[in-house]
Amino acid sequence: MNKNDLVTVEIEDFSHDGAGIGKVNGYALFIKDAVIGDTVSARIMKIKSKYAFAKLEKVITPSSFRVTPECKFHRQCGGCQLQALSYEKQLEFKQNKVVNNLIRIGGFLSEHLENVIEPIIGMENAFRYRNKGMYPVGYDKAGALVTGFYAGRTHDIIANTDCLLGDERNKEILETVLLYMKKNHLNAYNEKTGAGLFRHILIRNSFYNADVMVCFVLNAKFSEDFPKQIEILLPHKQELCDSLSKIHGVSSIIVNFNSEQTNVIMGKKVCTVWGQDKITDKLYIRDTGRFITFKISPHSFYQVNPRQTEKLYALALEYAELSGDETVWDLYCGIGTISLFMAVYAKQVYGVEIIPEAVHDACQNAKENETKNIEFFIGKVEDVLPQKLSDENIHADIIIVDPPRKGCDSECINTMIKMKPKRIIYISCDSATLARDLRILCDNSYELKRFRVIDQFGQSVHVETICLLKLLEG
Ligand code: SAH
Repeated sequence: MNKNDLVTVEIEDFSHDGAGIGKVNGYALFIKDAVIGDTVSARIMKIKSKYAFAKLEKVITPSSFRVTPECKFHRQCGGCQLQALSYEKQLEFKQNKVVNNLIRIGGFLSEHLENVIEPIIGMENAFRYRNKGMYPVGYDKAGALVTGFYAGRTHDIIANTDCLLGDERNKEILETVLLYMKKNHLNAYNEKTGAGLFRHILIRNSFYNADVMVCFVLNAKFSEDFPKQIEILLPHKQELCDSLSKIHGVSSIIVNFNSEQTNVIMGKKVCTVWGQDKITDKLYIRDTGRFITFKISPHSFYQVNPRQTEKLYALALEYAELSGDETVWDLYCGIGTISLFMAVYAKQVYGVEIIPEAVHDACQNAKENETKNIEFFIGKVEDVLPQKLSDENIHADIIIVDPPRKGCDSECINTMIKMKPKRIIYISCDSATLARDLRILCDNSYELKRFRVIDQFGQSVHVETICLLKLLEG
C-alpha cells in the first residue's frame, strides 16, 4: 500500500474521535467522515507501521446508520464529528467508548461493568442545544470579513453565522456585528502579525430567561479610562448597542481585552459596555417545583447544555443519597451549580474552584438562592483540599468531583482517599482520564457501584459520564 493509492474498504468500527475504521491488507485505516457500515473508496494519505490515515473520496454503499447531515459544513468543521450518524447510533458509540476505556485503561471487568451500568440518557433534540458559542473573527480566502468556525485542525475561518448547535438568534447578532465593523472600517485580528482589533465574539444564552450576553474579545490593552478608550475602540458604539439590543433577549454587551499573541481566547479583563455584567439562568430541581437561579460572568464555566444538565444534576442528587446529615465537598465547582443542588438536601456543602470570578458568582448565587449551608474556596483543588485536611482536619461524607478533561490531579485523588468519604460521585467529560482515576480509587477501598452516560454534546464525540463509588466496609 502506498500514499495516494485509492482503496475500497468496509467500515467496521469507530475510533475514539469518531473516524471510521476499516481494514486493508491487515492495515487499520482511519477515515474521517466514514460511518460504521459504509463501504467507501478512500485515498491513502499517511502510512504508519500498523495503521494508516485515508481521506474519504466516495461512499460506495452507505451504511444503514447514515443520515443526511443537517449542516452543510459538517465535514469542514471540527465540531460535529458524528453528524452523518443516526442519533441512536451516536449514543451507542458514546456508551461503548466509555465502557471500552473503563476496561482498557481502568482495568475493570466487563461483567462488573454490565452489572453497574445504567442506560444512556439521550437528548430529545440533538440540535440547537448549546447555550454558548465562541466565534472567531477574521478573513476568508477571498479576503472578506467573516465570522464562523475554524476548519478542523486549522485556524482557517469558514464563514457561518448559523451553527445548528447554537441559538437561532446568534445569526442576527453576528451579522449585526459584521455590518457594524464594515461600516466603521474596523478590522479583524491577524494571528500572524498580531494586528487588528476583533478576535472573537462570545455569545451566551440563558435557557429559561431568553437573555443573551454578547462579548467582544478585542486585541487591546485595558486602560483605566475605559469610557474614553471604548469610544476610540468602538466608534459609534451607541449605534452598535442600539441594533444589538433590539434583538430579542440581548441583555448585556461586554468587551474583553486580550492583547496577547496566544491561542487562549479570552484575556483577564472584562468591561460592560451596555446592560448587565452577568447573564442570569436557572435550573429546575427535579420533583421539587423549585428552581435554582444563577448569575454567570463571562469568564465562568457553565454547563453548555442546560436541559441535559438538569438531568445530570438530578442523577448526582440521586447518587448522593442525602438524608440531611451529610457534609458534602463539591470539587471543581464552577459557579456552584452542583453545590447549590446538594445544599437543598445536605447539612453543609463546601465548594472549591480555581477561577476567582466563578467563586464570586458562586457566593452571589448562594446569597440569591438564600442558601446558608454553603461555603466556597478559591484555589486549586490539589492545594486547597490537602491544606484544609492538614490544618483543620476537614471531614466529608460525600465528595463530588467534576474536573476538566485532564481529570483529577493525583494530589486531589490522594487526599480524597485519606478523607474516606462514604461516597464519591465522579462526573467526567473525558472517559480516558476517568478510567485512570477510577482505577486508583478502586485500588484504594472504593467500589464502582453505578455509572451512566449522559449525552450533553449531541453530534460531537464528546461524552459525559457520572459514576458512584462507595467506600468498602472494614
Ligand atoms: N461542577 C461545575 C463545573 C465543572 S467544569 C458545573 O457543573 O458547572 C470544571 C471546573 O473546574 C471549571 O470551573 C474550572 O475552572 C475548574 N478547575 C479546573 N482546574 C481546577 C483545579 N485544578 N482546581 C480547581 N478548579 C479547577
